[in-house]
Amino acid sequence: MFDKILIANRGEIALRILRAAKELGIATVAVHSTADADAMHVKLADESVCIGPPPARDSYLNIPALLAACEITGADAIHPGYGFLSENARFAEILADHNIAFIGPKAEHIRIMGDKIEAKRTAKRLGIPCVPGSEGGITDDDEAMKVAREIGYPVLVKAASGGGGRGMKVARTEDDLSNALSTARQEAKAAFGDDAVYLEKYLEKPRHIEIQILGDGQGNAIHLGERDCSLQRRHQKVLEESPSPALNAEQRAEIGEICAAAMRELKYSGAGTIEFLYEDGNFYFIEMNTRIQVEHPVTEMITGIDLVNEQIRIAAGATLGIRQEDVRFEGAAIECRINAEHHATFRPSPGKIAYYHPPGGLGVRVDSAVYQGYTIPPNYDSLVGKLIVHGRNRTEALMRLRRSLDEFIVDGIDTTLPLFRTLVRNADVQNGAYDIHWLEKFLATGGMD
Ligand code: ADP
Repeated sequence: MFDKILIANRGEIALRILRAAKELGIATVAVHSTADADAMHVKLADESVCIGPPPARDSYLNIPALLAACEITGADAIHPGYGFLSENARFAEILADHNIAFIGPKAEHIRIMGDKIEAKRTAKRLGIPCVPGSEGGITDDDEAMKVAREIGYPVLVKAASGGGGRGMKVARTEDDLSNALSTARQEAKAAFGDDAVYLEKYLEKPRHIEIQILGDGQGNAIHLGERDCSLQRRHQKVLEESPSPALNAEQRAEIGEICAAAMRELKYSGAGTIEFLYEDGNFYFIEMNTRIQVEHPVTEMITGIDLVNEQIRIAAGATLGIRQEDVRFEGAAIECRINAEHHATFRPSPGKIAYYHPPGGLGVRVDSAVYQGYTIPPNYDSLVGKLIVHGRNRTEALMRLRRSLDEFIVDGIDTTLPLFRTLVRNADVQNGAYDIHWLEKFLATGGMD
């Protein structure tokens, strides 16, 4: 096992990793930018190192500074969390060259899944169902038109290096296509420095359902069920739940086993998420995330499995201790991502938290790194924290969520708490009757005005 883990991240996920490390009896090193000197993860870690100024590229993405921090503190492993360097294959290789363990999958697998075209090709080869689309990248308009005719309109132009919903454009007719291609290319070039795009059938009313997997790199892999992340705004997840209101146990076991078998064949190591769109009973692979995800607590609440603990153990060479038949799915869990943004305009609202009171009680979990008097810096994402509730069934979870949201007080800044208080009382949300466009429509038709 590792002696000391350096956490190359900030905010709630840095704290989440720190907690798992402490429970394993492993010493922790926090790194931080000058903007984060007062952050909770810095206060709670055994040691901390300032790695640069506020811009992420000079601090949390600064590989030489992270290596130096390992050298100074003697850390023998790095956990990258999510975002920042978590899906940077080169970073994983550089760490290996320096004899520092990367708590994540093999560089090779990060690289394959980071390129959406290669990822789709691999998924298909491994027997994972995919969205109909181009075989690889699309280079010219004529080829795009040919593929689009084959799969049928509407089609979606997607960036090969895409992320966060950027570089995606819908073409409803052939006339829209060349415009969609050039806009997607420009956006992709600006955001990712790579203008490669591909085509997919655009699904009109799918749900977003993803499967959590764990592999040990030695050919063992299991699935931990699904998370339904259909409530999205601008392709960003807002609320996640498990089980999905749309799946039954048989469907879960079937898609879960397809994913686990694929990961066994790949000899995948660590935690990963295989994301699907789900429509009319069919699953369509969209991408795989080779890291811990923001919404992982939903799965932890219903399985009782500590995913970060597993990541650390696997990276240290342990075999997967859990067999598929030992995994139990108990009750229902729901997570709300509470952001420092206005609940209707979504304008970012960094600043000082004047008063803070998180909810508590049975089945309530708050993953957050803020505290009363803390100032949320403007430099990073706007996540204030995640409220996760667990109930014996979905109805109980919803009632627990409702009363937890009502208890939650964050004063001094705007937060999206009022949005969730409205959503939890909405009949469609209560009935689980939503697809990936539901929230956008709700907001566009004055749901929060
Ligand atoms: P990113 O890496 O940018 O997040 P994804 O491929 O994961 O891109 O897609 C993000 C979101 O975009 C999905 O959750 C879904 O809402 C929408 N989306 C992606 N592909 C399709 C498709 N073929 N049809 C309809 N919506 C899609």
